[in-house]
Formats: sequence, structure tokens, C-alpha cells
Amino acid sequence: MAVLVTGGLGYIGSHTAVALIEKGIKVVICDDLSNSDINALDRIFKITNVRPKFHKTDLKDYKKTELIFKRNSIDAVIHFAGYKAVGESVEKPVMYYENNLLSTLNLLKAMKKFNVKNFVFSSSATVYKVSDIMPLKENFPLAQTNPYGRSKYFIEEILHDVCISDKNMNVAALRYFNPIGAHKSGLLGENPNGIPNNLMPFITKVAIGKFDKLKVFGNDYPTKDGTGVRDYIHVLDLAKGHICALEKLKEKPGFFVCNLGTGKGYSVLEIVKEFEKQSGVEIPYEITKRRPGDIAECYADCEKAEKELGFKAEYSLADMCRDSWNFQKNNPEGYKSVQ
Ligand code: NAD
Ligand code: UDP
Repeated sequence: MAVLVTGGLGYIGSHTAVALIEKGIKVVICDDLSNSDINALDRIFKITNVRPKFHKTDLKDYKKTELIFKRNSIDAVIHFAGYKAVGESVEKPVMYYENNLLSTLNLLKAMKKFNVKNFVFSSSATVYKVSDIMPLKENFPLAQTNPYGRSKYFIEEILHDVCISDKNMNVAALRYFNPIGAHKSGLLGENPNGIPNNLMPFITKVAIGKFDKLKVFGNDYPTKDGTGVRDYIHVLDLAKGHICALEKLKEKPGFFVCNLGTGKGYSVLEIVKEFEKQSGVEIPYEITKRRPGDIAECYADCEKAEKELGFKAEYSLADMCRDSWNFQKNNPEGYKSVQ
């Protein structure tokens, strides 16, 4: 069995590729390197002693996408490839819709041609309608506030339609909450280009002195300490969730949607405090105004993942902070750092 991991040199894809290889599953990676570094492939090799076959392919190109299926015997696809910056998606909606939708459509077309029936999709908690009721359950209403989120929603709908039209097609749409952390080896981790948008990569960049201080976006939310609360999940737990999803597809569920989170919410200040504890580095911060579009709280209901995927996150917030720091400290220049 070979699994095609699209976006497999990116943050979540590379950790999942390692988890698959460690399970003895053959991995084929496709990535256009638009938000990743080829050195991640060497890091995967260093961890697993296996060098997965790599295609530097832009999935927007159908002919090249088809070639991957021609040249490999693919049984399932885990589709991570896509653009993911919310702010950028508001500025460049066409670019986001084109990349995220077209790459998915091309994959589905090639899968149909080569009779590949199993698909795992990286969706997001951002598809849910803003709600005061937490935790978020899979059957809660959906509504998005930006083109990135809408691209995820549109793709879920397309995948649902494909499953209706083809009874042999099985799809797991996994709605991730907030992945942080890194591989235990310190060889793989989150390596965003430019100024990080997300909390943890910003904190780690403050810790290595790339930025003076963290801006905490608002302390007047109706939360435990006034700062935003999110459900942070270790990227290694998330990777494991994909193995569970591949197992689930063997039951032929058709279209299957599931949250991947821990069910616990932590505030921005709790993250800062735990990071300081684990790293021994002080994180200076200032409270600034709220970030437009942010919500007070967001965390997952994990019952469906537990019951239907047999998935339960194991790593603690301490693990997540320690491992994020370990990667950043060992790789001040990201994947350009010598290992
Ligand atoms: P990432 O940017 O690190 O990985 C995505 C990879 O896809 C990159 O390596 C990029 O080079 C590649 N890619 C993009 N467009 C491509 C194309 N047209 N053809 C081939 N490769 C292409 O992001 P990540 O954090 O690993 O996220 C993986 C997936 O999970 C994304 O779809 C993202 O939207 C989703 N997701 C991420 C988060 C998060 O917080 N990280 C949360 C929810 C959902
Ligand atoms: N946040 C912050 N400063 C930053 C980045 C994020 O205070 O530089 C806050 C943000 O307001 C939210 C939490 O940290 O409450 C998580 O933000 P992130 O962008 O990582 O995830 P998302 O908001 O997309 O869930």
C-alpha cells in the first residue's frame, strides 16, 4: 500500500509522513515547495532511515498531477497541500480559491482515472459558525468569515458530493484545531516564511530574539484571563489522527467528518507562561487591541474522534511548548540550519 501525501514537506504533512513510514506504510510525497523546504526530505530520512519518493509538483497542473498516479501505485491520498494564511486569503481570494480548490479537483480527477477511492482531507475548525456554545461538535452550523475558511468549506461540500456520486469513494475530512509542537528529534517543526501569523511560531521567534516582544491581541474577552482561548494539539497527535483516519476508511464510511483537537482550551497568557517554564526564556509581551475577526474561545468536542476513530490526544501543553522550543532552538534559520 502506498499513500500519496500532498504537501508532505510542510508542517503537518512531514510529521504525518514520518508516522506513516514508522507504521511500515510506503509514502509518496508531492509538494511544490511554495511553503516548504526540500531539506525537510533529508530530515524525514534522518528520522526514519527511509527516503520517500518525492515529486516536486504543483497540483494546479493536472497533467503533472496525473503523472504521479501513473508512476506510483497509490491506494490512498492524504491531502495537506494548500495555502493557509487567513489574512493573505482576504487580500488574495482568487489565488486562495484557485490553489486550494483546483489542486483538490485535479487530485479527484486523477483519483477517478486511476481508481483510487480513499481520501483524507485537511479541513479546519475555522469552517464552524462563530458560536458561544463550546465545545464545537461536528453537527454544529457552519459559516466562515474569510476566503481561506470558505475554501475548506467548499472542498468539504465537493468531497461530500463525490461520495454521493460514487458509493465506493471514502473521505475523512478532519477538522484540525490549533496544531503546535514539533518532532521529538528537533529535526521537524513549524517553519513559516516571513512574519508568523500564529501564536506559537511568534512566541518561539521572540524566544530566539527575532522579535522584541509578543503582541497579545486583546485582554478584554469573556475568558478566564481576558485573552483568547484555543484548543492546541500536538502535531504528533495530529499525525496519529491521520493513521486512525486511514483505518476508518477501511470500514467504507463514505463521507466522514471529524474534529481533531484535545477538547481543552488554553488562553494566550497560559501558553506564554507554560512556554517560559519549559524553555527557561522570558517572553516579553504587550497587550494590544483585538485582532479583527478573532473570537473569544474555540475548542473541540472530541467524542466522535474517540468513538469512531479511536483517537485521543496524548501530549500535554508542556510537551507542546517544550517540543516547539526544541525545534526552534536547534533550527534558528529553519530548515537552512545545519543538522
Ligand atoms: P504548510 O504550509 O506547512 O503545508 C502545506 C504544504 O503544501 C506546503 O509544503 C506547500 O509547499 C504545499 N503546497 C501548497 N500549495 C501546493 C500546490 N498547489 N501543489 C503542491 N503543494 C502545494 O501547512 P500545514 O500547517 O502543514 O497545513 C497543512 C494543511 O492543514 C493545510 O491544508 C492547512 O490549511 C490545514 N490546516 C492547518 C492548520 C494549522 O494551523 N497549521 C489548521 C487547520 C488546517
Ligand atoms: N494571538 C496573539 N498574538 C499573536 C498571535 C495570536 O495574541 O501574535 C492570539 C490570537 O488572538 C488567538 C490565539 O493567540 O487568541 C491563537 O491565535 P492563532 O492565530 O495561533 O490561531 P487562531 O486564532 O487561528 O485559532
